[in-house]
Amino acid sequence: MSQRIKIKALLESEQTDINVIVKGWVRTFRNNQFIALNDGSTNSNLQVVVDFENTDPALLKRLTTGAAISVSGLLVTSLGKGQKVEVKAKQIEILGDSDPEKYPLQPKKHSLEFLREIAHLRFRTSTFGAIFRVRNSLAFAVHQFFQNRGFIYLHTPIITASDAEGAGETFHVTNFDLLNPPKTENGEIDFKEDFFGRPTNLTVSGQLEGELGAMALSDIYTFGPTFRAENSNTTRHLAEFWMIEPEMAFYDLNDNMDLAEELLKYVIKYALDKNAEDIQFLTQRLEDEEKQKPQQDRSEMLLIEKLQFCLDNDFERLTYTEAIDILKESTPNKKKKFQYPIEGWGTDLQSEHERYLVEKHFKKPVILTDYPKQIKAFYMRQNEVDANGRETVRAMDILFPGIGEIVGGSQREERLEKLEQRMDQMGIPKDELWWYLDTRRFGACPHAGFGLGFERLVQFVTGMGNIRDVIPFPRFPKNAEF
Ligand code: ATP
Ligand code: MN
Repeated sequence: MSQRIKIKALLESEQTDINVIVKGWVRTFRNNQFIALNDGSTNSNLQVVVDFENTDPALLKRLTTGAAISVSGLLVTSLGKGQKVEVKAKQIEILGDSDPEKYPLQPKKHSLEFLREIAHLRFRTSTFGAIFRVRNSLAFAVHQFFQNRGFIYLHTPIITASDAEGAGETFHVTNFDLLNPPKTENGEIDFKEDFFGRPTNLTVSGQLEGELGAMALSDIYTFGPTFRAENSNTTRHLAEFWMIEPEMAFYDLNDNMDLAEELLKYVIKYALDKNAEDIQFLTQRLEDEEKQKPQQDRSEMLLIEKLQFCLDNDFERLTYTEAIDILKESTPNKKKKFQYPIEGWGTDLQSEHERYLVEKHFKKPVILTDYPKQIKAFYMRQNEVDANGRETVRAMDILFPGIGEIVGGSQREERLEKLEQRMDQMGIPKDELWWYLDTRRFGACPHAGFGLGFERLVQFVTGMGNIRDVIPFPRFPKNAEF
């Protein structure tokens, strides 16, 4: 290993007048004298000062935006403003040229849409550098949070034969020759001949398998990729996204909500501490972007204030029924401003309703509980029918400003008859899920869990409007580039 020092460490160094070796990519080179060098370790560039009078002009020409270079020189206190220290170059080596005529990243502001088309290079921008450092910290903090509490990290399968939600938005997994799959006598595709001897798909959630783990290990969590073939071209849906799914034995819905709220606060605080500079940069970026908008569309808080606010306040907890009452009486509903007017009890909330509750009514994160049984999955614990004959389940969704649903969870139905009854009603094959039902046959206990969409969390913390900008290589309808 050479004595290379990363720019982050160098900028934090207390020492000056020492020889250093730095390596990175040229962001800009101005006046034939000042290189702004970045190696991804931090948002800040290092200023490298070139003694151009004593440098080969051919080398100076190759100091172009995007070039990879190695510099050895003296770390000195900087006289210029904007940086405490800089490196006076003694020797510069070009490791990889970058033709400025062809390099797609110019030293100017590019649109996020354009950068999505060159996702292989967008890591080199300040914005994406910041986003992916924050993403990294959040992932680490998730593990730290659970590990500190004795949770077991459980790897649930990526290929499954079950569709956890019964939503049917799955990607099939097969090794058939699609033009000529084996057929049964009836002319149907013969999945007995397929690799797994049955139809399989990419997982939409690790929950069902996670529950099996919790029924022995007490507290588990998964953190892995999930896949949904949903054709929604929204700013909050991906076809491949990462989900964190804890499952806890002996937890009820309140314990579940407490854990989710603590987790969110813990990881946001971790990123605020660890990535202060990146979040400051993203806050500024967002503020600049907001200035383009009309006053009434601008957010009341800066990104960093929004994050701090989220740490300092309890999430508002209320039932679906209470939320419907608020929405029914709300000004936009009375003035017919909602695209989907709130008419009665029982339908799912649209994102306009969630946003009203979070952004206008409570102005803070909200946890909605006890949703109508009709609109939720089969495994959620059924409440007693209420005085109005309403049937609800012990579900909870956490709604965040600007994001909408960030967490979906529930206390699980541990009573075998209730669960089987519900599966029958919903047409979910009990024989296929025999293993899931076994946990209700042998040592069933109250338990709960939730799913946190990792990209939605990264969106919240980075303030990015589009989920496609918080995952390195987004997968969405008609796109699997890179
Ligand atoms: P939505 O109503 O927003 O589609 P959902 O009800 O389908 O969400 P769940 O099945 O409860 O979501 O999944 C748990 C979490 O996973 C959600 O709260 C959300 O944070 C995240 N999530 C769900 N679908 C996607 C997706 N397509 N892309 C990214 N994250 C997602
Ligand atoms: Mn969905």
